[in-house]
Amino acid sequence: MSEAVLNPKTVHKEFFGVPGAFGISFGLPALVIFFALIANETYSLQGVRLELDKVAAQLPQTWDQIQAFCFDHTCWTAYLTWFFGLAAFDQIVPGKHLKGVKLADGTQLDYKINGLLFVSVFLVVFLARLYQSDNYYLPELDFLYKNHLKLTVVTILFSYGLSTFVFITSYIPLRTPNGVGSKERILSINGNSESYFYNWFIGRELNPRIGSWDIKLFCELKPGLLLWCLINLSCIHNQYHEFGKVTDSLILVNVLQSLYILDGVLNEEGVLTMMDVVTDGFGFMLCFGDLTWVPYTYSIQSRFLSLPQNFYELGPYKTTAILLLNLLGFYIFKASNIQKSDFRRGKLENSNLQYIQTKSGTKLLCDGWWSKSQHMNYFGDWIVGWSWCLPTGFQTLFTYFYVIYFGSLLVHRQIRDETKCKEKYGEYWVKYQKQVPYKIIPYIY
Ligand code: NDP
Repeated sequence: MSEAVLNPKTVHKEFFGVPGAFGISFGLPALVIFFALIANETYSLQGVRLELDKVAAQLPQTWDQIQAFCFDHTCWTAYLTWFFGLAAFDQIVPGKHLKGVKLADGTQLDYKINGLLFVSVFLVVFLARLYQSDNYYLPELDFLYKNHLKLTVVTILFSYGLSTFVFITSYIPLRTPNGVGSKERILSINGNSESYFYNWFIGRELNPRIGSWDIKLFCELKPGLLLWCLINLSCIHNQYHEFGKVTDSLILVNVLQSLYILDGVLNEEGVLTMMDVVTDGFGFMLCFGDLTWVPYTYSIQSRFLSLPQNFYELGPYKTTAILLLNLLGFYIFKASNIQKSDFRRGKLENSNLQYIQTKSGTKLLCDGWWSKSQHMNYFGDWIVGWSWCLPTGFQTLFTYFYVIYFGSLLVHRQIRDETKCKEKYGEYWVKYQKQVPYKIIPYIY
C-alpha cells in the first residue's frame, strides 16, 4: 500500500479552515480565562451588565505580574502532578483489553479498559482523605478553589504544550512496522492537509501513543472529567468552610454532574466507537477540549452558585422538578445509545426492529428511539444540560452558557455526521432520512 493510500491528503477543512482554526485556538482559551474572571470571589457577573473595570483589574499589568500569572510554580507543580500522576495510575490499574476499530493499515489497536477500577480507587482515596480530615477540610480542594484562575491558565498552556508534542512526534517514524510493513504513522483523515497549523489544530496523528499508553483515550476520559468533578466539589468545600452551610442548588448541580461524569468514565467501551476516537486526530482541538474546556466551562454553574452573592435555595418542589427533568434526559440519552449499540452488536436480532440494509452490509436502525429522530441521544444529552443550568435560577444568562454552547456543538456534530453518512451510505442514507426526517428534536429540528 502506498503512503498516499494509507494516509490520503485532507481536502476539506472543517471550522472554516485555517482562519477558523486560528480563531478557536486563541479565542476559546481567552474565553475560558474570561469566564474565570467573571465568577470569582472578587467579581461575579450579575444579569448581563458586565463591569469591565472589575474584570481588567484582575489581569496582570506588568511583565513580572504576567510571569507570576502564567508560571506560578505551585500551580504548575500541582497540575503536572495531577496529569502525570493520573497517567501513571492509569498504567498501573489493571483492566480488560479490547480491540479498537480496524485502522487504515488493517490492524486494530489494543485498549485497556479500566474505568470502573480506576474510579473506585480514586473514590476510596478521596473518601479516606475526607474521613481522616479535620472537619472535612481538604487542603487540595481549598487550593483548587482559591487558585482557579491561575490553574485555568496553567491548563491552557499545558494543552498548547501537549498538542505541540503530539504534533511533533507524528513526524517521527514508528519503531516497529505498521500493518502494511512501512514505518509510517496512521494519520487522521482530517489532519493531513497542506497547512501545518491546521493539522496541529485538528490533530495530525490519529492515535498518538507512548508505548501502550493511548494519550487520546486517557485525555478524553480521565484528567478533564475528574478535574471537573473536583472543581465542583471544591465549590461545596469552600461554601461549607467559609459560610458554614451548603445550598441545595449547589448540592443538586454536584450530584447531577457527578453522575454524568461517572457514567462518562465508566463508558470507555462506548468511546472506542465514537467519532473522537475513530476519525478525529488528537490535536489542539481535542486536547484543549478534554483538558481545559470541559473542566473549566462545565463547572460554571458550581462556581457561580458557590459565591455568596449568588447563594440560591431551590426548595423541594424545584429540586424535584429539575431532578425529574434530569432523569428524563438521562433516560433518553442512555436508552437510545444502548439501543443502537445493542442493535449494531446483533443483540436485538429477534426484536423485529425495522432497519434499512445498506450495500456495505451495515444496518441503519429506524425503529424505537431511532425512529423519533436521527440523534435522539443528542436530544437526551441536551435535556440533561438544562437540568444542570436550571438550579442557578434566572439571575444571569452566563450560567446557561452550557446549553447554548452544547446545543451548537450537537448541531455541528450532527451536520458532520450527516456528511459522513451521506458519503458512506449514499442512496440508503437518503432513504433513511425520508423515513426518519427529524435530525435531533422530534417535530422541531
Ligand atoms: P452517535 O452515537 O449518534 O453516532 C453516529 C454514528 O452512528 C453514525 O456516524 C453512524 O456510524 C451510526 N448511525 C447513525 N445513524 C444510525 C442508525 N439509524 N442506526 C445505526 N447506526 C447509526 O453520535 P456520537 O458518536 O457523536 O455521540 C455519542 C454520544 O456522545 C451521544 O449521546 C452524544 O450526546 C454524546 N456526546 C457528548 C459530548 C459531551 O461533551 N458531553 C460530546 C460529544 C458527544 P456508522 O459509520 O457506524 O454507520
